[in-house]
Amino acid sequence: MTETITPHRPRLAAPAVSRRAALALAAAGAAGAGLAPGLRPASAAVPTQGGARPGWYRFSLGGMEVTTLLDGLRIGEGPHPTFGADQEAGTVASLLEENFLPTDRFANGFTPVLVNTGSSLVLFDTGLGAGARGNGMGKLTDRLSAAGVNPDDIDTVVITHMHGDHIGGLMEDGAPAFANASYVMGQAEYDFWTADAQKTGPTERGAAGVAANVVPLAEKTTFIAPGDSVAPGIEAMEAFGHTPGHLVFHLESEGARLMLTADTVNHYVVSMQRPDWEVAYDMDKAAAAATRRKVLGMIAEERIPFAGYHMPFPALGYLEARDEGFRFVPASYQFDV
Ligand SMILES: [Zn+2]
Repeated sequence: MTETITPHRPRLAAPAVSRRAALALAAAGAAGAGLAPGLRPASAAVPTQGGARPGWYRFSLGGMEVTTLLDGLRIGEGPHPTFGADQEAGTVASLLEENFLPTDRFANGFTPVLVNTGSSLVLFDTGLGAGARGNGMGKLTDRLSAAGVNPDDIDTVVITHMHGDHIGGLMEDGAPAFANASYVMGQAEYDFWTADAQKTGPTERGAAGVAANVVPLAEKTTFIAPGDSVAPGIEAMEAFGHTPGHLVFHLESEGARLMLTADTVNHYVVSMQRPDWEVAYDMDKAAAAATRRKVLGMIAEERIPFAGYHMPFPALGYLEARDEGFRFVPASYQFDV
């Protein structure tokens, strides 16, 4: 195949204006505004760009390569009473103000993680999927493409738990979105959501989502328990509470470590600094708080970097134990080489 190479031409080339014409223009008006011909005033209207931000971030972890991918941002009310459900609104507002955050607005990010182990591509969680695209979410496959990854190349999809923002991207138009993948999910989580008891009442919608997006993939799924490995260097750990079978993952390669904390903590200030405060999303609130203490405590004590599904993009950072909770320290250039 031959390629036609066109000479480079500036996209916004100024029209050729003869010197005589330029002088005439200047005399006619542009000079009156103090501007050279071809320039426009600095106050000219320019379309604003909205909340665009980079959608993927890649770094090395020993012999692995890790990419965090922003599926989207949901901007809505809150954080109270979703966060600090058992607290007075004013108490939560004070904590937010101390941390330079609005008290009446919450932007929640959704960040699946892709791990290239060197021998396989392992994707953790799948975002909200097609149903959320009209609201600017469900961008995972776009982000993968932007990061140079074809969804057909994903070998394994791991599901941390079965809330809609994690399983929504498993299916696309009724077919698996990751055509050649096999799946890894927690046995306890699957058993919970597929039990008859969940098919009515407050879990009805969640169970319907699992029936539509997860159950069709069961034959291609390996069901695991805490302590099991997903791939060499990637181990599941128990983090029950947010959901009955919620799992987090510990990655280790050539001595470098990373925790994937999924939904152990869903607000980088409120649930970090006050891990015992109740969160509406947590199905067993006391167990979720105990899990936060355990998982966040380990990350802080052992100084392990972590990627958290709902942390501010690129959803990567560290924790310091401080006062009654933890301080989130976003990663900056620690992983850049
Ligand atoms: Zn979530």
